[in-house]
Amino acid sequence: MRILVLGSGAREHAIITALLREEPRHHVVAAPGNAGIAADVPVVPLDATDASSVTNYAIENNIDLVVIGPEAPLVAGVADALRTRGIPVFGPGKAAAALEGSKTFAKHIMEEAGVPTGRAVRAGTLAEARAALDEFGAPYVVKADGLAAGKGVLVTSERPAAVAHATQWLQHGSVLIEEFLDGAEVSLFLLSDGHTVLPLSPAQDYKRLGDNDAGPNTGGMGAYSPLPWLDAEFGSEQAFVDEVIDTIALPTVRRLAHEDTPFIGLLYCGLILTDAGIRVIEFNARFGDPETQVVLPRLLTPLSGLLLAAATGSLGGLARPEFSDEACVTVVLASENYPEAPVTGRVISGLDAASAVPGVTIAHAATAARGDSFVATGGRVLSVVATGSGFAEARARAYQALGEITLAGSQFRTDIAARVAG
Ligand code: AMP
Repeated sequence: MRILVLGSGAREHAIITALLREEPRHHVVAAPGNAGIAADVPVVPLDATDASSVTNYAIENNIDLVVIGPEAPLVAGVADALRTRGIPVFGPGKAAAALEGSKTFAKHIMEEAGVPTGRAVRAGTLAEARAALDEFGAPYVVKADGLAAGKGVLVTSERPAAVAHATQWLQHGSVLIEEFLDGAEVSLFLLSDGHTVLPLSPAQDYKRLGDNDAGPNTGGMGAYSPLPWLDAEFGSEQAFVDEVIDTIALPTVRRLAHEDTPFIGLLYCGLILTDAGIRVIEFNARFGDPETQVVLPRLLTPLSGLLLAAATGSLGGLARPEFSDEACVTVVLASENYPEAPVTGRVISGLDAASAVPGVTIAHAATAARGDSFVATGGRVLSVVATGSGFAEARARAYQALGEITLAGSQFRTDIAARVAG
């Protein structure tokens, strides 16, 4: 199969690794990719958000399936352009991708579909925002109503900080003031063909920069899968997944189809397990990073078949994807000063020794080749991914591999999956 993967992060590297593990003879190409991806498959210097160059490339190169990794190409309408030309594409069109890009649209869909979520008020002025903050009380949740690259959400007990965040984002549009939801967070990915869904295995990610959830929110500093503690709360992982499908994923996909914005791609449900039940905190319209790095290594069912079935409206005939019982942990290595102003251009060494640790793979994100070595080109530089027979082993392997890697000033969390490792 000839597969074009759009994107350049660790998520895309993990997708490509899974495709090649399933079938080394797949012809996989990435655009634009990164230095780590380029070591595995050919990369082409396409602008992934430029619909016509992506479409032309896919046609000229007889691509069987395009997999869209990040949100930017979705919002730019790349999936729409490919679909118009009859090219199978895994990723929603621009209108359905608003489920991620517009918190107001997401709330509208959830309301119409009866999906459980936190109460929220949309504020277009500071006076409205202040009134909503008073209504909900502390802790305050303030969200920018648009794509904000992970920086739009503030959860704080300090009212002045909440007001300052609302003031800042009101300059770019409206904000959402939301009810605070208390409980464990779970990310569940579901493949959707526009009508039906198939679930992947749940994961948990770590959004804060520092150990014990100290410091600012980031794009994600680590993750693990599966979630053994779901058994105690729901009886089994499957019982939890069934409930999310019945109460959240299917109603959402059906509502989107009803509104003529069918969702074809990855429905990412960001959930909080409150005492009153499962609540949605956000939807994303693509694979999550870093959760993808821990979900795909456990996938036993061939990934390409699942993505193609979703892209061609034929998920209905397939069985649920199967996963190994292995534990998987990923730890993100970030540059000095991430997330404020990451220091770039520094050499990364020790990657060969890190990859030689049993069960470990490295998913590159912000790396470039310089001669025989790699340099860091951004904030989240790479994800160390480790599998093991249990979390203690997976964690030990991940941190052993990190110990082999040198990048001056770099940072990583030391507590990823510690709570499940015993
Ligand atoms: P989001 O970008 O919407 O995923 O929000 C980023 C993080 O903020 C989430 O992972 C949660 O930890 C937190 N968060 C968002 N909304 C809420 C909420 N209503 N109640 C509590 N925490 C929230």
